[in-house]
Order: sequence, then C-alpha cells, then structure tokens
Amino acid sequence: MRRRNAEEIVATIPADVLGLPKPAWAGEDVAMLYDMAHRFMSEEILPHYDGYEKNEIVDRAAWQKAGAAGLLCASMPEEYGGSGGTFAHESAIIEAIGHVGVDGFGIALHNAIVAPYILHYGSEEQKKKWLPKMATGELIGAIAMTEPGAGSDLQGVKTRAEKDGNQYRINGSKTFITNGQLANLVIVVTKTDPSKGAKGTSLIVVETDEVDGFERGRNLDKIGLKANDTSELFFNDVRVPTSNLLGQEEGQGFVQLMQQLPQERLEIGTGAIAMIERALAVTIDYVKDRKAFGKAILDFQNTQFKLAELKTEATIGRVFYNDCVTRHISGGLDPVTASMAKYWLSDLQCKIVDECLQLFGGYGYMNEYPIARMYRDARVQRIYGGTNEIMKLLIARSL
Ligand SMILES: Cc1cc2nc3c(=O)[nH]c(=O)nc-3n(C[C@H](O)[C@H](O)[C@H](O)COP(=O)(O)OP(=O)(O)OC[C@H]3O[C@@H](n4cnc5c(N)ncnc54)[C@H](O)[C@@H]3O)c2cc1C
Repeated sequence: MRRRNAEEIVATIPADVLGLPKPAWAGEDVAMLYDMAHRFMSEEILPHYDGYEKNEIVDRAAWQKAGAAGLLCASMPEEYGGSGGTFAHESAIIEAIGHVGVDGFGIALHNAIVAPYILHYGSEEQKKKWLPKMATGELIGAIAMTEPGAGSDLQGVKTRAEKDGNQYRINGSKTFITNGQLANLVIVVTKTDPSKGAKGTSLIVVETDEVDGFERGRNLDKIGLKANDTSELFFNDVRVPTSNLLGQEEGQGFVQLMQQLPQERLEIGTGAIAMIERALAVTIDYVKDRKAFGKAILDFQNTQFKLAELKTEATIGRVFYNDCVTRHISGGLDPVTASMAKYWLSDLQCKIVDECLQLFGGYGYMNEYPIARMYRDARVQRIYGGTNEIMKLLIARSL
C-alpha cells in the first residue's frame, strides 16, 4: 500500500467527522475563521512541519506569518491590535491546528493564555505596549509558573522578585516552559513576599530582549510535541521596571492564576477534541483502504464495533465541549466544570488515539503515519495545565 503524505491525508479528512449540528457560538464569522486557519495551517505550516519536528522548534517567521494572517490574538480587542473576537474564535484556530495535525505550533498558549493575562490585569499602558506586538508575532508569549521544585504545588514557587527603587530584581529558575526558546515576553510567577505564601505571589512581565541576566536553558527533549520548544529559563538578577507588575498591587498573582486557569483548562480541551476528531477521521479512512483476509479492515465486526464506540464517546465529548464554550462565552464556566473538561477530554483523547492506533496495526507504530505522532503528542495533555489528578482534587472539593 502506498504511503500517502501528510498533505494528501489532510485533504481526505472530512470537515466534520461527527456530523453534529453546530453550536450557536460557531456562527458565520467563526466558521470563516476556522476555514482560513485550516487553510493557513495546511499550506503554511504543514509542509514545513517535519522540519520543525526535527529542529524541535517552529521558526519565528511562521509566527509572523500567522500574525499577518490575523491568527494571533484573535480574541484581543481591535484597539490593541487583535481581531476583537471571543474564545469561540480562539477555539476555531486551535481546532484547525488539531485537525491539520500541527499540534506543536504553540499559538494556543500565546493567544488564549498569555495575552488574556495582559488584557485582564494589565494597565492601559501595558496593553498598548505589548498586545499589538503579540498580535503581529513580534513578541511571542510564554507563562513561567513551573519550577524544578514546584509543579502541581504552585505555592512552592521560589523565584523571588525584590523591589529595588523603581525596579524588581528577579532571581530563580523555571522549567518545562512552552515556547521557552522563542518567547520574548514571559509572564513570570514570582514571590514578592515569601512570608505571605500564596498572598505574596505576583505576576511580573519580563521582556527578555530588554534585560540582562536572563538565560534560556536546554530545549527539553520530549517524547512528543516535538515541534514545540519547551525550555528551562533562568533569571539571574534580572531587573525590570516595577511597572511590569500585572495588577495594581503586589500579591495578586495567585488570584489572577486561579481566575485564568479555567480558560487554560478549556483550551486544553479544545486541543483534545480536535485531535479526537482527526484520529477518528484518519482511522476511518485507513480501515476502509487497508485489506486483510481478502476484505477491508472496516469489514471486520470488531473494527465496526470499536469505531462505533469511539464515535459515540467522541460525540459525547464534543457535546460537552461545546456546552463548556457556550458557558465560558457567557461568563458562566465555573472552575470545577473547566477541570472536568480538561481531565475528561484529555483522558478520552489518549484512549481514542490509542484505540485508533491499534486499528493501524504495525503501521500505527511508524512515525511516518500521523496516528503515531498523535499518540506521542496526546500524552502530555493529561500532565500540563494542572495534572488530571489535580483536576480531580478540584472537582472533589465541590462534592
Ligand atoms: C510539554 C510540557 C509543557 C509545559 N508547559 C508549561 C508552561 O508553559 N508553563 C508552566 O509553568 N508549566 C508548564 N508545564 C509544566 C506542567 O504544568 C507541570 O509539569 C505539571 O503541572 C505537573 O507538575 P510536575 O511536573 O512538577 O509534577 P509533580 O507536581 O511533581 O507531580 C508528580 C505526580 O504527582 C501527582 N500529584 C501531585 N500532587 C498531588 C496531589 N496533591 N494529589 C494527588 N496526586 C498528586 C501528579 O498528578 C503527578 O502524577 C509543562 C509541562 C510539560 C511536560
């Protein structure tokens, strides 16, 4: 059987493998943005994607092209260089990334996680300074919470920001930071007053091109999401103006993180449902074509039953996801439901991708088949953004 290249496979994926009615939030402008993002990812990113995986980084020019195409900061107001959309627009872009299979292009974090901190907690001056450059890709965003000794337990963050006149002096190290090699705008979770625990936590923006003492560590060697740069970051007496604090006073960091985490968790759910749909589409396509014992793999009842189960679960996942977005856009997505979406959809993603891979037989284990990449890329979804165990703790608190 001839191996089809990634572009051919994208071309054969039906636009909507589940065939569900569209939710109200996926109106005409969101559908148009989805089509445009899908075309952009297929034409501008996918042809270079093997190279990005090999180099373990997407090049900066690709970010700037995405900016020029209007795919960065889609939900930021137009006055700050964005497109004035909502989370529905971010969802459309992230779904396109997942459907095309370029999951390592880290614009979801830039758009739907980093930029919103600046929009919600930044001063007018900060918003005008940073958001327009984030919308063009001149600034690439990252958020640095995790440290070698503090992941799930963010209260254990040790990175210190000490006030010194009209500057903060930042010392500490971060790890596992998405976009860590490329980012030149990093929101750093610091302790401004270690004696106050969570209430001594503050978010401070570091424009890495502007400071001394900032160093990037290794581009970490991961099992999946190879095209994304994930790094250690070191802050050695990095000085930034006190005006780089997000929020009007110190000590607001933990509250700000808690307020923004639901969107971060929902956005992980977006990636999950998009990959689920792609996995199903490429698998259905494959089992119709591949033959054993004189018939197509799809003609075995096991294959039919397995895919019937997976399509049912994917449908339940999509309906739940769509409902979460509906609630989020109207301001009603509570942190517990967002945690459910993150944990359940990412677990489902790993399960469905694994079951789909099985239907590819040995070819599923070969990196040249997209299902193999999905298998590697899916696994981290249960870990970052708060592990699924932490999600269950948060859900359990509501019992
Ligand atoms: C590819 C990748 C990208 C990432 N991107 C970013 C980023 O951009 N920015 C950032 O700040 N961080 C990022 N992270 C870090 C990520 O958020 C953390 O890895 C995650 O929160 C878990 O922290 P940890 O690795 O320290 O694990 P630990 O906290 O050491 O947890 C180890 C295990 O113990 C479990 N555990 C911990 N506490 C409890 C508990 N109370 N009850 C039950 N079980 C528990 C966990 O669920 C896990 O299974 C990224 C990580 C990866 C792998």
